[in-house]
Amino acid sequence: MLLKGKRALVTGSTSGIGLAVARALHAEGAAVILNGLGNEDEIAQLQVELAADFNGANLLDPSAIETMMTEIGAIDILVNNAGMQYVSPVEDFPTDKWDAIMALNLSAPFHTTRLAVPAMKEKGWGRIINTASAHSLTASPFKSAYNASKHGIAGFTKTIALELAQTGVTANCISPGYVWTPLIEGQIPDTMAARGLSRDEVINDVLLAKQPTKKFVQPDEIGALAVFLCREEAGNVTGANWSIDGGWTAG
Ligand code: NAD
Repeated sequence: MLLKGKRALVTGSTSGIGLAVARALHAEGAAVILNGLGNEDEIAQLQVELAADFNGANLLDPSAIETMMTEIGAIDILVNNAGMQYVSPVEDFPTDKWDAIMALNLSAPFHTTRLAVPAMKEKGWGRIINTASAHSLTASPFKSAYNASKHGIAGFTKTIALELAQTGVTANCISPGYVWTPLIEGQIPDTMAARGLSRDEVINDVLLAKQPTKKFVQPDEIGALAVFLCREEAGNVTGANWSIDGGWTAG
């Protein structure tokens, strides 16, 4: 039980990667606060499974984030994970989608971080983990907002790592390649349309074509990396961008 006594907020933890991270932190004894959208009954079940609190703040709204951070109080571990994707050629990219992706993927982590840091500094211990993406290091066409937001979160993470370097608080990115979650499933139809491909072609020739291992990353592999970053032994790991992408960005 590495994380007994620690309180962890995991944004976007009602699904996919965030849920796997929440499960991994809970398994190490952390008291987890879930956040995200979704079906009330399913969320209630997750709360029972993880003995977790839940805050349903919509992270597109900075004032909702402020209310959430006040309601939950001091936390030791902040995992900024909620994110969204939209696939379109730039000239057709809906401006409201651009704004929403920036708000959720980039501005929400800024707001949670600025509000969580004072208590972490006071305790002299904290862990900030941002789910970035292979798209924080490299780009793919038709994902202009997503790629910009993920490159942005990587830069933000490096900045706060430097600012907090002598406080006992670390800040790192985890950058997955393709992980089979609802976010990936949801972009397949748009990618089929944008590129004129079949579903199998999108999976094999677009998604897995990027990953030399030819395998989707598993959500629990990301949970294990998040736990490592929370260990005492990771106290000198800060400002790093941890690829877990089957070799994608090595190429
Ligand atoms: P997902 O769609 O399964 O989960 C997204 C989570 O964010 C859900 O819990 C959802 O309820 C929550 N969410 C969405 N909009 C929200 C809002 N307005 N307010 C609060 N919560 C909101 O997606 P995922 O694949 O698990 O993605 C999680 C993170 O991992 C994202 O930041 C994504 O960019 C990143 N990522 C995913 C992959 C992948 O292949 N799946 C790869 C690299 C990075």
